[in-house]
Amino acid sequence: MRVLLTNDDGVRAPGFVALLEAFRGQAEVMAVAPQEEQSAVARSITFRRPLRLEHQLDEPDCQVYAATGTPTDCVLLGLCHLMKDKPDVVVSGINRGANLGDDVLYSGTVAGAMEGSINGIPSLAVSLERSPHPDYSHAARFALELSKEVIRRGLPPKILLNVNVPARPEILGHKITRQGHTQYAQEILSRVDPRGQEYFWVTGALPTGEPEEGTDFAALAHGYVSISPLSMDLTAGAWIGELSTWEI
Ligand code: MN
Repeated sequence: MRVLLTNDDGVRAPGFVALLEAFRGQAEVMAVAPQEEQSAVARSITFRRPLRLEHQLDEPDCQVYAATGTPTDCVLLGLCHLMKDKPDVVVSGINRGANLGDDVLYSGTVAGAMEGSINGIPSLAVSLERSPHPDYSHAARFALELSKEVIRRGLPPKILLNVNVPARPEILGHKITRQGHTQYAQEILSRVDPRGQEYFWVTGALPTGEPEEGTDFAALAHGYVSISPLSMDLTAGAWIGELSTWEI
C-alpha cells in the first residue's frame, strides 16, 4: 500500500503523528503537512507566493515534509512533485475536533481529501471529536483499516469519505451517514488597534448540529464512528427542474 498523508492542524499536531505512526511499517508513506495550522482554510490554494518544503524525516518507507501552504497545496506537492508513483489512497487528518454537517465546507481536513479525490485517488478525511485529552490511537487504527478496504473497493471519481470518530473510549461500531445541518451563531467582534484602526474577529458560540436520524451528528452523539460519502459535485440536482420554470 502506498499512502499520501496530510492534515490541517500542522505537521506537529498529535493527530497527524498518530496517523503517521499507524501507517508506518504498514505502507509506503509520503506525509506532507502544513508547517503551521491551517484549520478552516477549506480548499484554499496558494499561488500568489512561493511554497517551501522542509524535509523532516527521511526513511526508506517513510518520508515526512512540512510545507508552508494549505492542505490542498500539500496534496498537490505530494502528487505532482514528491511522489514518483501515485498513492493508492490519500488520508487527511486526524483532525482535532469533528468535521460534521455544514462544517465540511470550511474544513481544511476534508479539503485535503477532496484534493486527492479530484486527482483521481480514493481519499478519506478523518477527524476525532473534540475532548480535553484526545486519544487518537483508535481513530488512527480505524483510518488504516478503512484505507485497506477503500483500496480493495475503490471509490467513484469525486466521491470521498468523511470519517468522524467519537472521543469516548467505548465505540459501538460505525454508521454510514449523511451530512447533517449545522447551526451557526457567528458574531463579528470589533476592536480598535493601538494605531486607532478598527479590526475584527469572527467569533460567537461554537456551532451546534441537529442529531437527526441518519446524520453524521447522530452517529457521533450515539457513540458510533460516522462515515459519510461526500460528493464534490455540489449541484442541487433536485432543484434543476424548479429553476428551469423561472422566467429569466
Ligand atoms: Mn483542524
